[in-house]
Amino acid sequence: MSRVAPSPTSIARPDILSVDPYEHAAWNPALERLHANELPWRNSTDGSEAGLNRYPEPQPQGLVAQLAALYAQPAANVLVTRGSDEAIDLLTRAYCRAGVDQVLVCPPTFGMYGVAARIQGAGVVRVPLNQARGFQYDAAAVLAECTPTVKLVYVCSPNNPTGNLVPEETILHLAGQLAGKALLVVDEAYIEFAATPGCARHLPGHPWLVVLRTLSKAHGLAGARCGVVLAHAEVVALLRRIVEPYNLTQLSIEAVLRALQPAARASTAGRVAAVLDERARLTAALEQTEGVIRVWPSAANFLLVEFVAPQLAFDQACAAGLLVRDVRRQPGLERALRLTVGTPEQNQRLISALRTHSRSRPAHKVT
Ligand code: PLP
Repeated sequence: MSRVAPSPTSIARPDILSVDPYEHAAWNPALERLHANELPWRNSTDGSEAGLNRYPEPQPQGLVAQLAALYAQPAANVLVTRGSDEAIDLLTRAYCRAGVDQVLVCPPTFGMYGVAARIQGAGVVRVPLNQARGFQYDAAAVLAECTPTVKLVYVCSPNNPTGNLVPEETILHLAGQLAGKALLVVDEAYIEFAATPGCARHLPGHPWLVVLRTLSKAHGLAGARCGVVLAHAEVVALLRRIVEPYNLTQLSIEAVLRALQPAARASTAGRVAAVLDERARLTAALEQTEGVIRVWPSAANFLLVEFVAPQLAFDQACAAGLLVRDVRRQPGLERALRLTVGTPEQNQRLISALRTHSRSRPAHKVT
């Protein structure tokens, strides 16, 4: 007899499942709006298309349809969020009971998973990446740590700040093993810079898989704050119950719609290609720079670099007017900085700055 798989919302917080969502003002563009206590006139500075005197459409149908097409998903499997940060927060609040439930993260990784959990009062189980094996994701150790109170298991691929991709076989293995127990949340913020299409196409066969995408990186819209949850329709419906009705501003909605036009998408692809060229050039130049111990291979738009003297490297970059990310507080990264791939001119300035003082090549340099 075949067993009916439980819904991926079956482990959500019971009180969230029964919450009555806020009833926002009805959305009917055919009628004039005297129901939302808005001003009937635009602000004199308002250059938007729709008018900022009006509340935006909640989960705008046109935008959801465009994003569904971009990621080849049905619209019912798409939730638009204020950046992936909001998606992480919503998942945590929907699934984790304060003082009871936990999320599982694999450090060094993106900090918001743990921060969102702590804000919600949830615990954080940490299963370190295997640094000796190129920060490999340790699926066996993750599964061994998945007690019944672990509700969300994060995979960041490519991982921030290590830059490596988690193999698709590992993700699918985890998705199979975690079904019925915990949501597998795969954060693909940087996937456009990797030579893989990502995992969203596996959603139909894996109802406990959730994929996070963002317009912040490859699309160059970090300031617009637009992220996307791709998930089983019941997970999306659950998150729609708790998401703020007007989570995206009208200005952001219009900016994202413009960026999804064919011409804009073509130029996005060109800029991604430019980043990949620069990533290769920057990697090669850093490997030839005194004081660099190791440049970790990257499938993202940044490089994790170990230095003999990381503070000196940080200061040299600053002196050249460039801010790089100090990641030394993360476990295993005591000598590392994270460098975002910039324009050719910025990358050149960074290399020149790091070569300012001649230093002797360390005896233990890893090749
Ligand atoms: N996920 C990862 C792995 C990130 O590195 C970042 C931001 O740097 C985010 C999510 C947040 O992205 P967003 O701008 O969509 O909130």
